[in-house]
Formats: sequence, C-alpha cells, structure tokens
Amino acid sequence: MQQKKLNYISMKKRTFLKLSTAAITGAAFSPILSCTTGNKSDSVILKNWAGNLTYHAIDLIEPATVGEVQQVLAKNATVRVLGTRHCFNTIADTEATLLSTAKLNKVIVIDPNSQTVTVEGGIRYGEFCKEIHNAGFAIHNLASLPHISVAGACATATHGSGMKNGNLATNVISMELVTANGDVLTISREKNPDMFNGAVVSLGTLGVVTKLTLGLVPTFDVRQDVFLNLPMEQLKTNLLELMSGGYSVSLFTDWQSDSINQVWVKSVVKPGEPFEVRKEYFGAIRADRNVHPIIALSAENCTEQMGVPGAWYERLPHFKMGFTPSSGEELQAEYFVPQESAAEAIQAIAKLRDEIKPYILITEIRSIAADELWMSPCYQQASMAIHFTLKQDLAGVNQLLPKIEAAIAPYHSKPHWGKLFTLDAKTLQSRYDRIEDFKNQVMKLDPDKKLRNAFIDQYIFG
Ligand SMILES: Cc1cc2nc3c(=O)[nH]c(=O)nc-3n(C[C@H](O)[C@H](O)[C@H](O)COP(=O)(O)OP(=O)(O)OC[C@H]3O[C@@H](n4cnc5c(N)ncnc54)[C@H](O)[C@@H]3O)c2cc1C
Repeated sequence: MQQKKLNYISMKKRTFLKLSTAAITGAAFSPILSCTTGNKSDSVILKNWAGNLTYHAIDLIEPATVGEVQQVLAKNATVRVLGTRHCFNTIADTEATLLSTAKLNKVIVIDPNSQTVTVEGGIRYGEFCKEIHNAGFAIHNLASLPHISVAGACATATHGSGMKNGNLATNVISMELVTANGDVLTISREKNPDMFNGAVVSLGTLGVVTKLTLGLVPTFDVRQDVFLNLPMEQLKTNLLELMSGGYSVSLFTDWQSDSINQVWVKSVVKPGEPFEVRKEYFGAIRADRNVHPIIALSAENCTEQMGVPGAWYERLPHFKMGFTPSSGEELQAEYFVPQESAAEAIQAIAKLRDEIKPYILITEIRSIAADELWMSPCYQQASMAIHFTLKQDLAGVNQLLPKIEAAIAPYHSKPHWGKLFTLDAKTLQSRYDRIEDFKNQVMKLDPDKKLRNAFIDQYIFG
C-alpha cells in the first residue's frame, strides 16, 4: 500500500516555514514524511494510534503558543486539529494542514478556591492527574486510558463508566478557542450556557481549543475488584442494579459463552471506613489475581486490582500511563443505547455470536449519565455504551458492523464519534435532536469552512 508522507513543521523558532514543491511531490511517492526541526526539513509518516489510518495531510504543524495557532490559521486555507491520534476513523484527517496540539501541553493553574484546573488543550490526562491529586483534588472520571488529550477526548464525548458519571466533556467549565478567523474566544458554562452546550463536544469544527477549565472534586481513593463469569441471564433482569454496584462498573465479554467474562467494579473507599468485600457479584466469582480484559494477555499493563486501594487516577483507567493500553493491534467500534433498552440491545447482539467470533478481541459495556451537550451521544439520555475491540481486519469489521448496527437499530443507537461505524449520515443525523443548532453554530464560527474535513462534510453536513 502506498504511504502518504507529510511535512512536519516545528514552530520552535517561531518561524513559519514554507515547503518546497519538490518536498511535497516527493511525499506522494515514498514511505517517509517530511519533518522540519529548526531550519532542516525531514520526512515522516503520520498514522493514528492503531495504525489503521495514515493521515492524508500535506503539512503537520505544531504550534506552542496561542499566537502561533493564530498564525497557522491565518496562513492556511484549510486546517484540521489533531490531538493524540487515538481515533479509529477519519474524524481528525485532512488533505490539507494538520495542526497538532502536542506542544500545547501545560497545566496553567490549579485554583483551590474555585476547585478548578486550567490546562492547555493538548495535554494528556496522564500528564496532570498526579499534580491535581497532590494538590488535594480529582477529576470525577477518566476513560480506559490516560494517554489521550483533554481537548481531543472532550471533542468526541469520550467517557468512562458510572451510572452517575457524565462523560469527560461534562467536566468542562469553560474553554478558550482560536476560531477560524483567528479570534480568541472564551465560552463558559455560566456566561454562554447555550453556545457552551453546543461547543464542548465540537468534533473539531469550531476552533482550536487552546485551554480548558475543568471542575475538580476532593481527591479520593478507589479499589478495583474483578469478578469472573457473570451469568448472561443476570443482565436480563438486573443490568441496571449490577451497573450501580460501584462508582464505575465495566462488563467484559467476548460473546462466546452464556457468561460475561469479567466484571470490573471500581469502588470509592474512605480511609478508616469499613468496606464489605464481596466474594461474588450477581453470581460472578471474585478473581484471585490481576487480569487483563482479554484474559490471555498479561495484566502487567493494567491498573492494580485485587481490592488494593489507590488514588483515583491510578484506578479509574484500566491501563497504566507508561504502558500500551488495550491490546495494541486492534480496531474499535462502540454504540450508545438508552439505559432502559440496554438489556434488550445486549441480547440482540448476543444472537450475532457466530458472526462476531472471527473478529472479536473483547467487548466492554459501560454506563454514562445523561448530559446537556448537543453532540454528545448521551444528550438528555442516560446511556449504556457497548464497545467492541476487534482484530485489525478492516474488511471483515466493515462486514460485521452493519449487522450489529441493524440488530440495535430499534434502540436508536449512536456510534462513538472517534471509532469505526458504517451507519449512513442521514440515520446518524436523525438521532441527534440538536444537529441543526450545532450546524448553525459551526456556520457562524467558521463560515469559510476552514476547519472542515470530509468526515464532517459527510456526517454532519451531508
Ligand atoms: C486504546 C484506546 C482506548 C480508548 N478508550 C476509550 C474510552 O475508554 N472511552 C472513550 O469514550 N473513548 C476511548 N477511546 C477513543 C478516544 O478517547 C477518542 O478517540 C478521543 O477523541 C481521542 O482523543 P485524541 O486527542 O487522541 O483525539 P484525535 O484522534 O487526535 O482527535 C479527535 C477529534 O478531536 C479534535 N481535536 C483534538 N484536539 C483538539 C483541539 N485542541 N481543539 C479542537 N479540536 C480538537 C480533532 O479535530 C478530532 O475531530 C479509546 C481509544 C483508544 C485508541
């Protein structure tokens, strides 16, 4: 397969480097990408985390200040923002310029009075959680991995689990963005409530998010207990109850038996307060060692289990910061259904056991509280997310996903914005009540379509 190479432009010297035609032409034919550090231009290939997508951009620019972001937007006709490249689809792709937020990665201030932290958009959760813990605070929830950027996670409504926990975007109190025309705009939940609800899950369309202020809670400890082989029957009658048995509960299954393979229960523990240790959980038996969600893999990459208490940021993600999250070589898809229909939706998918078998690595089922963010799959709807970690066989996965989507169509499922799906644009749009309001907001802030890409043109405007 021909690999697309692109020019990497470092703005370290605060100079904007023009690329030679030769460099761009060469890029189309060689598996190397052009990289400019200081005055010298090198070549690099840029892929997403999973390696299933080679970005089609011609330039990759890494501004380190708001001023440099403004400069990039002023000098390029089409720009797409790139976070930590953890999406599986083309939502972050472009054939023009990619603006990477890798150097916008600092903690600006932890404010104990307002119980907030303000960070730059490109920082990864794993880079500042310890600092806020040391200051006595916590974020209400985290995704399965701490490796993702805050702005990238919020832009796609990334979530963890917990019946009372909204997705990570619900934790945003205000954000600063550089809009397409170069203006610096601050949107806050308090001062611009309606615009705010249409801006946090932005899908990268409203501007470059340069700063976010996140709400904090007092720091807390969490213990993680894993239970094996939960009878699938329990889901029919007790799904909401068993998802409510901890601060954050995840079910893992490969759909190949009449059991959920693993139940991970993350519970808040308070020093000095007794904790009733369960030997079983709705018929599932307590694990006697740390396990990986894919049981055949080593648990070395996973956060500590076996009920050992630890700080929230070392227990809420499933995977440790310094290690590969998940399985590595994989594809992912995920669908949100209303909590009240989730048991039925899971049964409908279970009937596809044989079709799923050739591709499945593991499924994870999580709960997410309802929110008010227009483009969140949980907009005014408490949801259950049914996730698939799949083998890296794109053709096979593309055959499988329409079957899953058809099976859960009666529940008006919505796909995760950052993962693979095959749902058509019209159906997808019909499931978002506020899509017209969102489109109007995009048109207002980006009338010249500078921040658009093919994904947005197809699934939002198509
Ligand atoms: C191993 C693995 C585990 C995962 N686990 C979870 C999970 O537990 N829960 C979950 O919900 N998802 C999960 N995901 C999906 C992931 O959280 C999302 O894809 C998320 O968007 C990744 O953030 P990113 O910074 O890598 O985004 P990118 O892929 O770089 O970009 C995503 C989108 O955000 C936009 N964007 C990025 N930065 C900015 C910015 N500063 N300003 C404006 N727009 C911006 C981009 O334009 C793009 O549209 C997982 C993915 C992987 C690979």
